[in-house]
Amino acid sequence: MNILITGGAGFIGSHLAEKLVNEGHEVTVIDNLCTGNPENIASIMKRKNFRFIQHDISKPVFFDRKIDQIYHLASPASPIDYLKLPIQTLKVGALGTYITLGIAKRNDAALLLASTSEVYGDPLVHPQKETYWGNVNPIGPRGVYDEAKRYAEAIVEAYRRFHGVRTHIVRIFNTYGPRMRPYDGRVVPAFIMEALKGEPLTVFGNGGQTRSFCYVDDLVRGLILLMNSKCSGPVNLGNPHEMTILDFAHRINEIIGNKAGIKYMPLPVDDPKVRQPDIGKAKKELGWEPLVDVDQGLAKTIEYFRGAFNKTV
Ligand code: UDP
Repeated sequence: MNILITGGAGFIGSHLAEKLVNEGHEVTVIDNLCTGNPENIASIMKRKNFRFIQHDISKPVFFDRKIDQIYHLASPASPIDYLKLPIQTLKVGALGTYITLGIAKRNDAALLLASTSEVYGDPLVHPQKETYWGNVNPIGPRGVYDEAKRYAEAIVEAYRRFHGVRTHIVRIFNTYGPRMRPYDGRVVPAFIMEALKGEPLTVFGNGGQTRSFCYVDDLVRGLILLMNSKCSGPVNLGNPHEMTILDFAHRINEIIGNKAGIKYMPLPVDDPKVRQPDIGKAKKELGWEPLVDVDQGLAKTIEYFRGAFNKTV
């Protein structure tokens, strides 16, 4: 198949691109590299069935070959990224999704939208099921991401209903693994880099807030299953193993053998207090569940960040 991945030079996109290239598909990645990194796709760059186009998907683009499937992953995705790039975040969620849907419609291609657990905001229902509408502050600092993705879901549904485009919406929960940027501000790289430097881990608030972390290989397997299913979604994909950020910090210090402990900083505005996916729908519709436990996943991720750490010292 001819497969297009927007945001394919990013963390999740590059793992997806690599897997699809290895399966023998013709893969085109579009990425403007505002948060993506060409190093992420270095291993497939020279493969015959791979091409890379540096382009901002918020602006129109035309293809010389028929496209069968589109994974629309392009977006800044870390809180510090979308605080730095608020307008681009809104544009790629709105205009980028609109343009990508246009490409899907013109090519009669299937489209998968990478939405997010952030559509649930600071959730009042726990764990979060797809039927929950969310608790989002539209004008808070995180609103640029949350509302862009909520808009994206709305326009994807409109194209499915009105134009009959085959669409699939996935709500991705916290995902981690190799190729996250060491300083993207998210908790997994932040804690691992601090621990490798022998510094105290910076916990925001009292660390009582919870998250549930999914290893990237599990997530990518779920994305491909959803794309090739009849399920339009939305479907939650994530690991239901929930833990407090404080417990998570202790775990990382323990694994790395960091004796520097923990320091506390104020909780960012609108930081969700709890988050855990209900994955009943993914199990039923896709036969999907995560297979990699946190210790296995962290071991692989720490190995990757040791490489990044050695490069910076
Ligand atoms: N966090 C933290 N220290 C850090 C970075 C993040 O305590 O150095 C906390 C953050 O406040 C949040 C959780 O870890 O409660 C996950 O943050 P992240 O930015 O990874 O993703 P989010 O789930 O908030 O989008």
